[in-house]
Amino acid sequence: MPVEIDVAIIGAGVIGLATAHEIAQGEKVVFVFEKSRTFGLETSSRNSEVIHAGIYYPEDSLKAKLCIEGKNLLYRLCDRHNIAYKKSGKIIVAADENEINWLEELYKQGKKNSVEDLMLLPRTELKKLEPNIEARAGLLSPSSGILDSYSLLKFLYSQARGKGAEFVFNTEVIGIERAGTKYKIQIKDRDGISALIAHVVVNCAGLNSDRIAQLAGIDIAKSGYKLHYCKGEYFSLNSKYKNLVSRLIYPAPEQAGHGIHWRQALDGRVLLGPSAHYVKEINYAVDETHKQAFYDSVKQFLPLVDIEDLAPESAGIRPKLQGPGDDFRDFIITHEEKAGFPGLINLIGIESPGLTASLAIARYVSKIMS
Ligand SMILES: Cc1cc2nc3c(=O)[nH]c(=O)nc-3n(C[C@H](O)[C@H](O)[C@H](O)COP(=O)(O)OP(=O)(O)OC[C@H]3O[C@@H](n4cnc5c(N)ncnc54)[C@H](O)[C@@H]3O)c2cc1C
Repeated sequence: MPVEIDVAIIGAGVIGLATAHEIAQGEKVVFVFEKSRTFGLETSSRNSEVIHAGIYYPEDSLKAKLCIEGKNLLYRLCDRHNIAYKKSGKIIVAADENEINWLEELYKQGKKNSVEDLMLLPRTELKKLEPNIEARAGLLSPSSGILDSYSLLKFLYSQARGKGAEFVFNTEVIGIERAGTKYKIQIKDRDGISALIAHVVVNCAGLNSDRIAQLAGIDIAKSGYKLHYCKGEYFSLNSKYKNLVSRLIYPAPEQAGHGIHWRQALDGRVLLGPSAHYVKEINYAVDETHKQAFYDSVKQFLPLVDIEDLAPESAGIRPKLQGPGDDFRDFIITHEEKAGFPGLINLIGIESPGLTASLAIARYVSKIMS
């Protein structure tokens, strides 16, 4: 007889960890299956570590609501448990008249989303805050910040374990089959293939989450669950640029990302990125020939930068539901009861602001699970 558990979480990125931390308690048997050797080796450690305010997304979208709730939960958790962060604030800059109009729209969108502390800055005010930045105007978001994401992951992992969640690393979920009101989960590890039974399955498999849904029997083309990979590269800047700017600086966003921004990580590294281009496969190499595009982008708001001071750094891949040229797509976080799969929770397209929203997403999952 296969082992029987209450909840199987697939994936130990920030979403799987936060979910395990939220739901593991008492007698409930919660297992987290992770194909890698440890937690957080994919998108959760390949991002900008920015705590987003919740400005860009349409009101009432899950992205807006869970970002704002998640931001507040995250700041509180970091304060309570000494997880490093800096509420540095962020300025989105406008290079020309068109972008000033767009900043005003963004300001209104932020207000609709209940981000109450935004401030439009004319050039003179912007210069007072950031003398090295060149722009026609800016939008200041004081509640944006930067996080030590590894400390968050480690905290969630140890707390979830402390509450009884079992982490099964080097173990890939390769099959999910209905077994009456439960699910038979097939796993592959070093010893071969085996199976267990779970009452509830939570799909937090990031870049693989559409395939996991398909394994469970969901028609992902019909449901609109098919993911598109969108790569974001980072370049670092020479340490002489340290402390030149004190806030996060963002340009106008692109179709698929928030634009190549300036960030000083908590360890002092100065980073530019991420870019955004759709790719067919997962490959984290940074293409050095993209240096010129990074330089052109940052030079617009920071003319002091010299191209020789840029070096390739790292890359991440966004699990996007929105394909090239498509309109906005929200997170999919759904209990698949109506599709005939009670007990199956799918989380698909958890791109930015997934890190910021992680604690709120976990609460949401816990609510729709019961
Ligand atoms: C370039 C970039 C910049 C970003 N910047 C920000 C930011 O500044 N702020 C912000 O809030 N968000 C940001 N994000 C988004 C954020 O990083 C993600 O939303 C978040 O990390 C998603 O976490 P996850 O747990 O869903 O995915 P992941 O971290 O990818 O975890 C999924 C896990 O599932 C495992 N898995 C997959 N398939 C299987 C299987 N079959 N069996 C077992 N395990 C499996 C994987 O190995 C992986 O560990 C950014 C993303 C990118 C790509």
